[in-house]
Amino acid sequence: MDRPDLYDMTREELAAWLIERGQPRFRADQLFHWAHALLARGFQEMTNLPAALREELAATLRFGPAAPLEAREAEDSTKLLLELSDGQTVECVRMVTGPDTASACVSSQVGCAIGCAFCASGAEGLIRNLSAGEIVLQAVTLRALVGPARNLVFMGMGEPLHNVDALLKALTILLDREGWGLSAQRVTVATSGGARGIRRLVAEGPPVELALSLNAPTDALRRELMPGVRDALVDVLAACDEFSARHGGRPVTFAYVLLRGVNDQPEHAQELAQLLGRRRHHLNLIAYNAVEGLPFERPAPREMEAFAARLERARLNVSLRRSRGQSINAACGQLRAARGPER
Ligand code: SF4
Repeated sequence: MDRPDLYDMTREELAAWLIERGQPRFRADQLFHWAHALLARGFQEMTNLPAALREELAATLRFGPAAPLEAREAEDSTKLLLELSDGQTVECVRMVTGPDTASACVSSQVGCAIGCAFCASGAEGLIRNLSAGEIVLQAVTLRALVGPARNLVFMGMGEPLHNVDALLKALTILLDREGWGLSAQRVTVATSGGARGIRRLVAEGPPVELALSLNAPTDALRRELMPGVRDALVDVLAACDEFSARHGGRPVTFAYVLLRGVNDQPEHAQELAQLLGRRRHHLNLIAYNAVEGLPFERPAPREMEAFAARLERARLNVSLRRSRGQSINAACGQLRAARGPER
């Protein structure tokens, strides 16, 4: 049988596991601190634990940053492809976002059921959910092997709110003050929507930032681009409004990938203004990263600027972001897709 994964345990679960083995509770705090704050690579580094316990742990628990199958670097980002215990692979990226800041971007599933027409992950469908430990493993590996990060974003492969149990547990582990100790405001959960999932996050999760992948101003165009999306925009936006209300009126970020001739026309700007104009929002326009074999193009810079200017004139709160990591296939799923399906 597979050994339990230390990264899959909250501090409370680790304490229960150690107490069952006759250890005092404070060992859980020490072990958790070594694993998540000090980023130990093996039990032998944990010098304040008795040698016999270190040996027992090494024989009973799975632990340690992953050895990436592949790493790709660009000026502002490093992408890792990690192999999981069943041979599936998953991608994670560290993106430099400022002079002293970087974000760890993690995946929540292998593949994705949303099937966005412009996304490499969507092409293969959902393969499986990740465990909380597999989500934590990505953040630990990026921080241990690539460099520190002050922010965490769920923007890799998969729809995090289709795997909400693992998402909530991973957040408990990653926000623990004995571990990485991130504040919830430094975490962004990016979702394609799903009113039920958003409401669960509101009810059960910490006060993270929410980013909705909008990508189209109407249900008809959105379903063409994101065929796995079920809920109508009116329902998803109502859940987003509940999220804002619950967190002191904090605006939701709406992400909109610009696809030339598809969703970047004047009528789309007008429809977006109608959709978002009266709610608290931040609209993040993102230049599309081309994916080989898919029939979409990034608009020219002046076209994107003209689209943003229209939205600004309609009083939307807009920013235009050129995608990071173009040279390393940094859109979700592209590195995995470039290697082909699992062997
Ligand atoms: S863009 Fe995101 S939601 Fe859409 S298929 Fe890719 S991973 Fe899934």
